[in-house]
Amino acid sequence: MILVLIEHRDGQPDIPSLQTLSFARSLAAQTGDSIEAVAFGPDSLAGRLRDHGVSRYHSIADEQLMAYASEAWAVSLKQLADLISPKVLLAPGSIKGNEVMAYVGALSALSVVTNVCQVDAGNDWRVTRSSWGGSLFEKVLIDQDLALLTMANNNVEASESAVDVCDTVSFTPALEKKYFRAQVKSLENPVDEGMSLKTAPVVIGGGRGVGSSEGFGVLEELGEILKGVVGGSRVTTNNGWRAHRHQIGLTGNHISPKLYIACGISGAIQHMAGCKNSDNILVINTDENAPILSHADYGVIGDLHEIVPAIIKEIKNS
Ligand SMILES: Cc1cc2nc3c(=O)[nH]c(=O)nc-3n(C[C@H](O)[C@H](O)[C@H](O)COP(=O)(O)OP(=O)(O)OC[C@H]3O[C@@H](n4cnc5c(N)ncnc54)[C@H](O)[C@@H]3O)c2cc1C
Repeated sequence: MILVLIEHRDGQPDIPSLQTLSFARSLAAQTGDSIEAVAFGPDSLAGRLRDHGVSRYHSIADEQLMAYASEAWAVSLKQLADLISPKVLLAPGSIKGNEVMAYVGALSALSVVTNVCQVDAGNDWRVTRSSWGGSLFEKVLIDQDLALLTMANNNVEASESAVDVCDTVSFTPALEKKYFRAQVKSLENPVDEGMSLKTAPVVIGGGRGVGSSEGFGVLEELGEILKGVVGGSRVTTNNGWRAHRHQIGLTGNHISPKLYIACGISGAIQHMAGCKNSDNILVINTDENAPILSHADYGVIGDLHEIVPAIIKEIKNS
């Protein structure tokens, strides 16, 4: 059986968790295993999980654990795994997923393979993981009874594939106080949360070429017209032109919009790691040799401060 860790917000599984379930289904198709899920969340998750192929949901509905407590989560997962003996424990490749699985590995004296994008489950289990922002793929041979894996982000679509029934089973881990040394007490919504960079169909990215925080005004205007969200390269977040939560890239948000408009961004490998899953990339750059143009579906060579207002004017006139 394949056990998947689900992360959720207010009882709704997040997109990386649903993608992880899609991946689990493709693995189950190879191995013939069933898919079970575990979440530090309410019973009500079961409906959504059934739609994504989960036949049993282990609910750990302890208020102390709901937001996050890395060590306590890991101890809980280890206790559940000891009880139900999954073949695979699979988590989203999120900050929490990677951290908690590292703890589970340490507690179980097992290796963890992170950033997994493929599993060939023959006699030997060969796992492919992505490194260096997707520019290098490593093959790992798994030789342990329980495979501990975290997913590469945005590697598969979060598609539905319902099963008839998803049983809910309550699990109560035995947790000592010492496991709560690090614990998230509450979560606050960022003030501008609405559509997020991760889910927006249109994203406008600004880089050093934007020049200043005021320079982002014209990108915000384009974002409003196209009902999109504005993000930035690391240069712009380091310079304080954008908030860190708006960063796109390896160490920021991984986006997968229908259209990504990259303005004044050179296309460093770390930036591309976060936007390479965009359906279409439109680049606006003064340098015809900018590396990002080799990833572009459309390119405009010119000054973004002239091109973007011209696009806005054209859209308004149409
Ligand atoms: C461990 C690590 C992690 C990193 N993580 C990230 C990350 O998550 N995200 C990220 O973005 N970076 C990340 N970086 C940084 C990355 O290597 C680059 O330094 C960064 O992406 C460059 O940002 P930029 O494209 O805005 O700036 P630059 O590379 O300086 O490019 C600016 C571009 O703007 C163009 N330009 C200038 N003026 C104009 C104008 N008026 N109109 C149009 N075009 C113009 C230039 O031709 C140039 O192509 C990371 C680096 C490291 C080492």
